[in-house]
Amino acid sequence: MPNANRALIIGGGVAGPVLALFLRRAGFAPEIFEATSGPTAAGGALGLAPNGMNVLAAADLVEQVRDAGVTASKWMFENQAGKVLAWCPAGDPARHGQPTVMIGRADLHRVLVEQVQEEGIPMHFNKSFVSLSDTPGKSVVAQFSQPFTTFPAYLSGVSVGRSSSAMLLTR
Ligand SMILES: Cc1cc2nc3c(=O)[nH]c(=O)nc-3n(C[C@H](O)[C@H](O)[C@H](O)COP(=O)(O)OP(=O)(O)OC[C@H]3O[C@@H](n4cnc5c(N)ncnc54)[C@H](O)[C@@H]3O)c2cc1C
Repeated sequence: MPNANRALIIGGGVAGPVLALFLRRAGFAPEIFEATSGPTAAGGALGLAPNGMNVLAAADLVEQVRDAGVTASKWMFENQAGKVLAWCPAGDPARHGQPTVMIGRADLHRVLVEQVQEEGIPMHFNKSFVSLSDTPGKSVVAQFSQPFTTFPAYLSGVSVGRSSSAMLLTR
């Protein structure tokens, strides 16, 4: 997409790759900049509730995520002796569209990174975002360390929501 608006996504954890997939579908040319040196094995298990799975379904990731995880029908709370203290349904696929899926964070990350790479979205590792300089009339420059590099871009918007990933929209 040579003429598409570029979107620099800072952070290639869980949110960054998913954001990149949606931006690609919306006609942008996203690029991900991740501080770590590669996909990480860090993190325990995540429970992806039906609302989260519906987001992944919109990104065509349901099959890969379900294959890498385990579908759960209920949440159970037990004491040390194994006595069930309480339980509740984990969501009804017929009602909510998708089931709850338990998955290791590393497995989820692998699925997301593979999909990003399959769709040809550049993902740069060892790129730790440091700062942004925005001089009126000039291109915005995003600065990264490890090693220190600069990345010129035109800034048309910045979005930092509740997620720890940040996005710079560029053109
Ligand atoms: C203990 C725990 C349990 C959880 N359990 C669940 C659960 O069961 N179900 C669920 O849905 N959610 C769960 N969550 C929440 C879920 O992990 C987060 O919502 C999700 O990881 C947020 O995604 P993210 O991409 O914003 O952040 P992260 O996944 O943390 O990714 C941020 C990325 O940004 C990179 N980064 C940071 N600074 C820079 C920089 N300066 N430059 C470049 N890259 C940078 C980091 O290296 C990292 O890869 C849990 C969270 C915790 C802590």
